Amino acid sequence: MARKIGSRYTANQILGRGSAGTVWLGEGPEGPVAVKLLREDLSSDQELVGRFVQERTALLGLEHPHIVTVRDLVVDGNDLALVMDLVRGTDLRTRLERERRLAPEAAVAIVADVADALAAAHAAGVVHRDVKPENVLLDMQGPLGPGGAHPALLTDFGVAKLIDSPKRTRATKIIGTPDYLAPEIVEGLPPRAAVDIYALATVLYELLAGFTPFGGGHPGAVLRRHVTETVVPLPGIPEELWQLLVQCLAKAPASRLRASELAARLREQLPLLAGMPPLDVDEPDLSEEAAEESAPTAPPAGEPVRRRGAVSLVPGAKPDSNRDTHTSMRVPGPDELAGGAHGTARAPRATGTPRPGSAKHRATVRRRRITLGVAGVALAAIVGVGAYAASSDGDSKPPQDTHSTSAP
Ligand code: ADP
Repeated sequence: MARKIGSRYTANQILGRGSAGTVWLGEGPEGPVAVKLLREDLSSDQELVGRFVQERTALLGLEHPHIVTVRDLVVDGNDLALVMDLVRGTDLRTRLERERRLAPEAAVAIVADVADALAAAHAAGVVHRDVKPENVLLDMQGPLGPGGAHPALLTDFGVAKLIDSPKRTRATKIIGTPDYLAPEIVEGLPPRAAVDIYALATVLYELLAGFTPFGGGHPGAVLRRHVTETVVPLPGIPEELWQLLVQCLAKAPASRLRASELAARLREQLPLLAGMPPLDVDEPDLSEEAAEESAPTAPPAGEPVRRRGAVSLVPGAKPDSNRDTHTSMRVPGPDELAGGAHGTARAPRATGTPRPGSAKHRATVRRRRITLGVAGVALAAIVGVGAYAASSDGDSKPPQDTHSTSAP
């Protein structure tokens, strides 16, 4: 099932499928490579192909031990492909799904690697804009670091921006995960380097806690939490590490650390974290969910099994990825649509109110979905597309501007 990609590469075997296309184990003139072959609807989009070629320099220019280097861009007939360094291993989402939470030492070592990658990218004027566990690859052939962590490499530089144009988001009616979006993006400011720091701090919180600080529920509610709510402390986390997290999750971009400083401060923490087991953190409202799970409801025949409490944002929409963070969104409760509780993320609910996403809540939601569905999708479209419009602000500008950042 080998196939030619341009004149220089052969794709031999599928390594994985993502939202943008299929990644193949390939062979090039200099040895094995990973070839990301973009989906046909993307490769047939002339505007996207134009931008792809235009952004060549920014995409190809980044070389760093913790960045998956893009070696070549191939436009060949209907094929549009990115040729990358091959990383033999897995991605961080897969590891997190397997282990649920990482020991603090391993989590911090991985995040420090990604912070190094961001420091190099930011120094070159490139903002990643889509830092999340799916875009961190763990090199299983690399040397073991602190906490038994394999070296981590950041991938997909510039790809999210090429693909998630507001036009395309509207066309496919799919809105990416809002869990990692910095508050200034929600508020419509252009993305600077500090958005990557906020997203990376969100990843660190998730590695430690097993859930993101502001995720869960309707995308509109998640976006609002980024702007208005403060992060819930994690019991058992060393104070200095917590202070780093709080600083990098600051609402004001200027208050966050720069990537190089974050990497250095994280590495300082490593000796203190040696041997510490994963944190023992309760997921929000787990007790109620556990009780309800004793009487689980199987999905109707033919319907995919979804993450607890999650429904597709657009009924009937096909997932764009094997990662449900992209497409599984909950229908909002009336409280969420009306603005909901402010203050700390996941503030306690009033007695008798079902937790958003619980089985009880889903039953209520099903009844009101017909009326709220339209309102919910409209809200998500306004807020989500607004955010992406902001994050894709530079689409019409030259590539240097779109990626450039003054001070991180
Ligand atoms: P997308 O960004 O389109 O969602 P991904 O980049 O997540 O796709 O790639 C899908 C899968 O392909 C990943 O989970 C990973 O296992 C594999 N993969 C991606 N890039 C590489 C690479 N450079 N080397 C090895 N495997 C890779």
